[in-house]
Amino acid sequence: MSKEQLYIGLISDSEACEFPGIRPEAVLAIPSQTLEPEQCACLDYIIIDLLPRDAFNVLHTLRAHPLTRYLALFTLKVLNEHVSALSDGVVKDHEDAQIIAHEQKRLQEAFTLVKDETDSDAALLQFLYTRPNKILLPLQNLSNKALYEYPLLRCFTPNALMPNPLDWINHLVEQGFLNRVTLIDRLHCCPNCHSARLKFLDRCPLCQSIDVNEARFFHCFTCGHVNTEDQFIQYDSLRCPRCQTILRHIGSDYDRPIENFHCKKCSENFIEPEISADCLDCRNPFPPEKLKSISIYSVTISKRGRHAVLNETITEISSIFNGLNYVTPEHFKFTLNWFLRLCKRSPEIHFSLMHIQLTDLDDLLSAWGTGKVQLLLQDFSKSLRELIRSTDLSTHSDADSIWLLLPQTPVTGAFVLKGRIENLKEKFEIGSEYSLKTQIKFLGRDDCDFENDTAEILLSRLLGSQHNV
Ligand SMILES: [Zn+2]
Ligand SMILES: [Zn+2]
Ligand SMILES: [Zn+2]
Repeated sequence: MSKEQLYIGLISDSEACEFPGIRPEAVLAIPSQTLEPEQCACLDYIIIDLLPRDAFNVLHTLRAHPLTRYLALFTLKVLNEHVSALSDGVVKDHEDAQIIAHEQKRLQEAFTLVKDETDSDAALLQFLYTRPNKILLPLQNLSNKALYEYPLLRCFTPNALMPNPLDWINHLVEQGFLNRVTLIDRLHCCPNCHSARLKFLDRCPLCQSIDVNEARFFHCFTCGHVNTEDQFIQYDSLRCPRCQTILRHIGSDYDRPIENFHCKKCSENFIEPEISADCLDCRNPFPPEKLKSISIYSVTISKRGRHAVLNETITEISSIFNGLNYVTPEHFKFTLNWFLRLCKRSPEIHFSLMHIQLTDLDDLLSAWGTGKVQLLLQDFSKSLRELIRSTDLSTHSDADSIWLLLPQTPVTGAFVLKGRIENLKEKFEIGSEYSLKTQIKFLGRDDCDFENDTAEILLSRLLGSQHNV
């Protein structure tokens, strides 16, 4: 370990706090109330000895400031998971803290730190690059309509620009810059505003009133009247309230209909109430099958993310393909589902679904650097655009995975297109051991089971197949 003079910050509100093994003159003691990020910018690392809430606020202030964002920040004790999300952990001793701080500084020297407040993607990825083992863990926060947040993300965007944290993470995963680590939770969300704050209510299927209750019913055989049990009970006998017949024997005088629910507002009787999921944020009601399922993952920086940081080009490689009549994955699935319904009705409707996988993209990036690969992909995208029609749609599920939906194209047409795309390859052989490699698979209407298949099933079936389906 180097013998150079280190400067350590100690943020504490207690006079007694000392960090063993360090000369007092090397320590800048800062009470939390007077903390100014600028005064900490040239420290080597900082130790925080505060109560959890204060520690979180201090960490947040330092991580949100461009001058102190990348500093090694430790706590003296284990506090809570929100604090851990922003800190570099609990410090064991000076030696340990020094090793971690040195390693982070060494990694930082490989690139220029972003100072631009609006380049949040780059700032976040640079931060994660210097902490290769950091896992962003989603934590529950009921005041957030997504119900989860990644506390670190809030430090990397000015408040006004804060996108939905889950959308931001998904976006970086789709670009290939982050990898998903573990599935933490799965939520059902409002299809309108993506809020997970929903309440579920039983409603009358006729008038939508919530004033419904479970009841026992009687059905009078003499006049056919059906009503709730309480309307039939008179003194100590069962009497039909309409025709006054006394009901003695079940099966001959009366029976119990299968309806189990009664609406007090419109008097309708029914077997099952309708369930509606009401969004507490935008106040719209939805049937449960319309809710959007959202998966919440912990994430970490990917190989491609690390590469993009080193090349200082956090450009969205997959956005290069947005010129190909790009639609969002959701819109793509919606249209594919619509085609499945059309095909079921009309045998003359055809379509093909094609998947183009750019294999070895990570190797290309390592060998050539992002700039050159971007140029190559732009060329490839341009040539591809010339091959597809204005009615064809594209989307991508990943940075190196392109989907095409080709309406009114039978598999023979898809086969021809595949050949033409493969022929492009020659144009992109650049005389090195690396070249743009593609794996192309497709399926058509004859490969579908219109009774059971959905867009999701077709996409995963094509993705999982070794060759054309
Ligand atoms: Zn009756
Ligand atoms: Zn009703
Ligand atoms: Zn909503």
